[in-house]
Amino acid sequence: MNNSEFDSQHIWHPYTSLSQPLPVYPVKRAEGVYLELEDGRRLIDGMSSWWACIHGYNVPELNAAAQNQLQDMAHVMFGGITHQPAIELCRKLVEITPAGLDRVFLADSGSVAVEVALKMAIQYWHSKGTPRNRFLTIRKGYHGDTFGAMSVCDPQGGMHELYQGFLPEHLFADAPQCQPQDEWQEEDIADFARQLAAHQHEIAAVILEPIVQGAGGMRFYHPQYLRRVRELCDEYQILLIADEIATGFGRTGKLFACEWAEITPDIMCIGKALTGGYMTLSATLTTEKVATTICAGKAGVLMHGPTFMGNPLACAVANASLDLLLNSPWQQRVKQLEQQLNEELSVYRQHPAVADVRVLGAIGVVETKTPVNMAELQATFVEQGVWIRPFGRLIYIMPPFVMPTAELSRLTKAIGVGLDSMA
Ligand code: PMP
Repeated sequence: MNNSEFDSQHIWHPYTSLSQPLPVYPVKRAEGVYLELEDGRRLIDGMSSWWACIHGYNVPELNAAAQNQLQDMAHVMFGGITHQPAIELCRKLVEITPAGLDRVFLADSGSVAVEVALKMAIQYWHSKGTPRNRFLTIRKGYHGDTFGAMSVCDPQGGMHELYQGFLPEHLFADAPQCQPQDEWQEEDIADFARQLAAHQHEIAAVILEPIVQGAGGMRFYHPQYLRRVRELCDEYQILLIADEIATGFGRTGKLFACEWAEITPDIMCIGKALTGGYMTLSATLTTEKVATTICAGKAGVLMHGPTFMGNPLACAVANASLDLLLNSPWQQRVKQLEQQLNEELSVYRQHPAVADVRVLGAIGVVETKTPVNMAELQATFVEQGVWIRPFGRLIYIMPPFVMPTAELSRLTKAIGVGLDSMA
């Protein structure tokens, strides 16, 4: 059995069938903005490996950080032990995240950061002596694949139906309709406001992705929506959890998307680009008030502590990634990518296969009228020398911030070829 046969028969890939596996492309190495296949073909990367590799691949500074850290220790437990890489990272995170978020929990992946955020909210109310265990969120959201995270994902994604009876049932407000460039309509927040008022004594926290709803539909919404959510949460004294796992670290044009609305959530989750996409690491940050309330409760502690918490290797790379990002002209780069995406994708608005084109920061989305044939379209893109992974009715790119102009044009042109192939 060759590697390809073994892979298709024995290895699960994300959201795929093992009976009818989709094609997979063997990557040998990756450098800069290119992925190199085993057969030698080089593909321009439009995905940043799902929002993570903001600096591209094989980055000398991040390689050096990993190699240096390896000389000292790859890993050591975080229970009863601390270390410089974690302390340095948490200092940096406290400094760069919205003011007030200064208590940090290091976790292993985005989904786990969301679980920790939900647990913080539940423990907060438990400690106050008025237990609450419901969450309010907005439709079209995505927060991860573990059970708590799934329970606050869009209920129409299939996961809720499949796990009915096991998933806790939460509250879902209508998805925001006003886009960032639209004039704000107060009506947009009406359903959210109504549900928050109606269930104010049950709701532990509101959870949402600020400004950009990612895997649930690649939708952008108006900063005023987020501002109103903050105001309403304050009014009813309900915690607000911002899931910045996809939006964090500059992707939308602000370091964190909450900055578009100038709000501080009570709890914030980050992951993905935290290590520049080198390895899995996430963090859940909260305020002194939430932390002290949790710790004043009967349990006295936050009930979570994964084996690889604060992994030194991941923290060291995250430190190097943050230094690299913050010392780079990232705002300018993201602005340029935004301009070019706008110019080169907006022509597809007229295309017969296209329902909508939208761009925010270094995110370009072409929504098609009918669902794409993922395997066929993927093959078309690979023939064009680009790596773009469409899903549902979405062809989208979020390139590494270091993407040169010519390469980005090849990505946007390939989208045109892909659209033509659908007609
Ligand atoms: N929240 C958001 C907004 C995400 O985009 C993702 C990942 N796509 C997650 C949570 C889950 O992160 P992970 O896949 O690292 O568990």
